[in-house]
Amino acid sequence: MLSNEATRASTPAFNPVVPGLTMLRDVFANLYYAFSPDQPQGPWVLIDAGLPGSADKIRRHAEELFGADNAPAAILLTHGHFDHVGALDGLLEAWPGVPVYAHQLELPYLTGVSSYPPPDPTVGCGMMAYLSFAYPKHPYDFRPRVQALPADGSVPGLPGWRWVHTPGHSFGHVSFFREHDKVLVAGDAFTTVFAESGCGTYTQKQEVHGPPAYFTPDWDAARASVELLARMEPEVAATGHGIPMHGTTLRDQLADLAARFDEVARPRKGRYVPQPATADAGGVRSVPPPVVKPWLAGLAVAGVAVGAVALVWAGNEKKKRRPKALKDQEGKSSRKEDSPSRAWYRDNPAEQRASGPDWQYRRPGAYTDQPNQPQSSGSSYADRQYSDQRSRKIETQYP
Ligand SMILES: [Zn+2]
Ligand SMILES: [Zn+2]
Repeated sequence: MLSNEATRASTPAFNPVVPGLTMLRDVFANLYYAFSPDQPQGPWVLIDAGLPGSADKIRRHAEELFGADNAPAAILLTHGHFDHVGALDGLLEAWPGVPVYAHQLELPYLTGVSSYPPPDPTVGCGMMAYLSFAYPKHPYDFRPRVQALPADGSVPGLPGWRWVHTPGHSFGHVSFFREHDKVLVAGDAFTTVFAESGCGTYTQKQEVHGPPAYFTPDWDAARASVELLARMEPEVAATGHGIPMHGTTLRDQLADLAARFDEVARPRKGRYVPQPATADAGGVRSVPPPVVKPWLAGLAVAGVAVGAVALVWAGNEKKKRRPKALKDQEGKSSRKEDSPSRAWYRDNPAEQRASGPDWQYRRPGAYTDQPNQPQSSGSSYADRQYSDQRSRKIETQYP
């Protein structure tokens, strides 16, 4: 039953939210089984696809609800972060022919074209945020199963629902809304838990919160999305993280979040706080430079200095230990030229040529100067190779 005072201890992970919507909490990320309240045996759709390794668990619960061999009519994605598509590969294998839908602007990250902007651990706020540097951000490739949601706002497999573009947390983020009773599946546009905090994530204490900060690259868009969702005055909000909330408490907290978004949700500092990452239908176009704490930069410089001294010292030691005969021989033949590998510490080092592809050595700035070319819709082997190479390129060039 719905409550605004639930916690992890009081709420089973697999739990009905309202008729026609059942949630599964996959460790810390939610996914939803949606169907018509008049037909509880299905047809049905899956909204989001959990963490990596959860495909069997998701299917097992689907069988509990809809019986064996009852694949969904579709899988809908609020967005493509790893905690919402983690089990998708396994599910697609088990359910051949089931289509996947996401917003047009989310497709580059689901078709191998572009990486997401890097997560931003510098927003602080808690353990989940600090750990975010390690979260996967590489593009997934679910071609040919993934396609764009219908432009008319309808939701495949879910009559009576519509999708709403709610960007900010990701560029093609969407929420799903059942209009007649105002049930909202909001993905990560906002959450009902303090998702950045390890403690909040563990207890699942309910409170309306902004989108998970470490993964949000556009705070102005995120605020506009929360304002839009608040104006829709949902009766129930089932989000990507946290236990669903409802009624006046939900609407009051959501209205407050919208009104004071910059004060309570937007981090005080962070890579995307003063300036957003930008993207278009071809994926990420630009990312602002990373925020480096001065003491961290100092530590890095000190590390490099210590490393350089150690290398020089090691080189001298080696020289000292070399047998005399060898030293004499060297003295006669090759004293004048330093080997290229040792030339770096001279005052005028010899020009070094990169041996790999030049993009590996370019500074990040070069990336923003080179807009992505729209990807052709063909999927020949050559195209795929090109796209794979480009994905790596985009990922590698992030500082
Ligand atoms: Zn997310
Ligand atoms: Zn999430």
